[in-house]
Amino acid sequence: MKRLFTLVLLLTLFPFVPSGFAQRSSGAEIKQLQGPQDPRLGFVIHGGVGVVSRASMTPEKEKEYRAKLEEAVLAGYKVLQAGKPGLDAVEAAIRILEDSPLFNAGKGAVFTNDGKNELDASIMDGKTLAAGAVAGLRRVKNPITLARAVMEKSPHVMMVGEGAEKFAITQNIQLVDPKYFWTQERWDALQRVLKEEKEKPKGSSAKAGGAASEPSNRFGTVGAVALDKDGNLAAGTSTGGMTNKKFGRVGDAPIIGAGTYANNATCAVSATGWGEYFIRLGVARDISALMEYRAMPIQQAVDTVIKQKLQKLGGDGGVIAVDKFGNIGISFITEGMYRAYINAEGKPVVEIY
Ligand code: ASP
Repeated sequence: MKRLFTLVLLLTLFPFVPSGFAQRSSGAEIKQLQGPQDPRLGFVIHGGVGVVSRASMTPEKEKEYRAKLEEAVLAGYKVLQAGKPGLDAVEAAIRILEDSPLFNAGKGAVFTNDGKNELDASIMDGKTLAAGAVAGLRRVKNPITLARAVMEKSPHVMMVGEGAEKFAITQNIQLVDPKYFWTQERWDALQRVLKEEKEKPKGSSAKAGGAASEPSNRFGTVGAVALDKDGNLAAGTSTGGMTNKKFGRVGDAPIIGAGTYANNATCAVSATGWGEYFIRLGVARDISALMEYRAMPIQQAVDTVIKQKLQKLGGDGGVIAVDKFGNIGISFITEGMYRAYINAEGKPVVEIY
């Protein structure tokens, strides 16, 4: 009787033990742990805050932007799923965006005041705090790849202009004729901004109304942040800068701590927006510092710097970030920001406004 009672009690308490155990050790469960839901992987990209405004966006154009962002985010994520370093994922996604005329980086770079294209980029390894940056390039097809070469193949952190291009040759990095970067759309944007500059009263801000207030006439940059399976964070940013920039102007994208930052102890950040403000605030490093010294969660950290500090100073733009646990932070104070990330189910999510 006592034995029967014990058996009944056991069956009541653990009725599904055998099948539950089988489930736990089944292939399906193991696959799930190694699959897209793996919380240790994190990947976010942006295509800049220079979005085509809602009013001017057509369904066809929006489809094009969404498709390219999805292609880039999936390409980077595939690299992470293959167990490769976050730096590889960042570079792979950024190269796709650089090769597209849709974004202000690489092929789609905006024009300087004197009708040229000058490209900037940077990359950072959160594990070692190694970094590479390039600025004022006129002939390098994929500036992010040169930035990575500066980090990995030289004793320096930053190279500019002709010197950087000379280094590119030594590294067999592809150079193109400067004409490669000429696109009708960016040329027209420069003409509109020049016309507006001529007409507006001296000293008034580029933010004032008219053609320049269309974000796509002023901004644009691409970037990516990644957390790989080893817990290493990486960030990269690439840009043509701001339309109508003058006299060798360099923005925040190639400035480590302003437009790009990665530190395994905190997060990886890539920024887009009015570069001068991002440099003055040291935006990317500031976000990392809030997490390091004040233990702030990532979304609160990005909002504090973008929605409070940047806003207050009169700047414009946004950031993407990922922390060491794979949590994502996205913040912007512009009408939109082209962006895409991999959600908890391992699916790509693309957003614009
Ligand atoms: N931050 C870039 C720069 O100032 C431009 C942008 O992100 O739109 O060069």
